[in-house]
Amino acid sequence: MSAGSSDALVLRLEDGTRSAVLEVRALLGMGEGHDPRWRQHAPNLVTVRWEHPTEELEQELLSHPAVDQVIRLNGARLYSQWPGESSDRAPVAPGMDFDSEDPVVIAGPCSVEGRSLMLEIAQMVAEAGGNALRGGVFKPRTSPYDFAGLGEQGLEYMVEARELTGLPIVTEVLHPSQLDLVAEHADVLQIGSRNMHNTAFLFQLGAHPRGKPALLKRGFAATVAELLDAAEYFLLGRLAGGHRRPGLFLCERGIRTFEDSTRFTLDLGAFPILKKRTHLPVIADPSHSAGSRELVPALAHAALAAGASGMLVEAHARPHEAWCDSDQSLEPEVFRTMMSRLRG
Ligand code: PEP
Ligand code: MN
Repeated sequence: MSAGSSDALVLRLEDGTRSAVLEVRALLGMGEGHDPRWRQHAPNLVTVRWEHPTEELEQELLSHPAVDQVIRLNGARLYSQWPGESSDRAPVAPGMDFDSEDPVVIAGPCSVEGRSLMLEIAQMVAEAGGNALRGGVFKPRTSPYDFAGLGEQGLEYMVEARELTGLPIVTEVLHPSQLDLVAEHADVLQIGSRNMHNTAFLFQLGAHPRGKPALLKRGFAATVAELLDAAEYFLLGRLAGGHRRPGLFLCERGIRTFEDSTRFTLDLGAFPILKKRTHLPVIADPSHSAGSRELVPALAHAALAAGASGMLVEAHARPHEAWCDSDQSLEPEVFRTMMSRLRG
């Protein structure tokens, strides 16, 4: 195998017992010893680096009773070519159709701060025509002394807000210990910028039996290629979990550059590049890139012009009192105006 070859096989195993695995390895000419080409991500999901895998090899592997599915990547990746279902473009969640002419807008507070405030903001988002509601209940905070969300109680308020407005809810899952809880209640699992590099967690999220779709945010010091590799871990997880659809969309949320007059630098070039490299929908987060509310509408429009399919935006009923990211949260009136312009 040549160094740096991008060819690989993905094997989904029916039977991941040690003896079945050894038989499958034998078909590939691999013994019991360690082999750097073989990587077992889960009992039922293996990737194998393999230069130019042939159809004969695929058939041979498939005919083994332990093997359920064989994908020959031939230089492609799951993020560039999802097996079988590429024409299935069903909405990611109810009301979130990234193929629609209208940009998908997910809006709400940075963090859920209380029941009545959450319901008030939810109504504001629904009335302005938002497609989904955001709100953090498990917050990644840079300082351990900052407010980090209301946890399960906050999630209950989000669920109530969904009941009130009919909007699907999007919230971050920060740690594997929260995954079952968040996957039970949220419509979309947000994977934050800081977790983009947690590859084992990405796989676990994709494989979760509830099969909830996820929103993966670009790490603020990650390249586009690294974002796509992170997406690949999630998508391999989806295969392991037996989920038919990719169930993933990406978010460009600004990267760290030398420029410090904005909180992060929204990488506008990432939108057309990602459009070329992946079938996954891509949205923008103008709030965290801007860091201040007066810049948000301009960045939102710029992202759409560059090819974004939607927006994750922080909006609050009384943003000056917000417990988290107050400076960048939109006031109700500005949010409404931005919505009508985005939709115009
Ligand atoms: C957020 O959207 O609430 C958030 C914490 O964003 P990021 O992970 O991009 O910093
Ligand atoms: Mn925030």
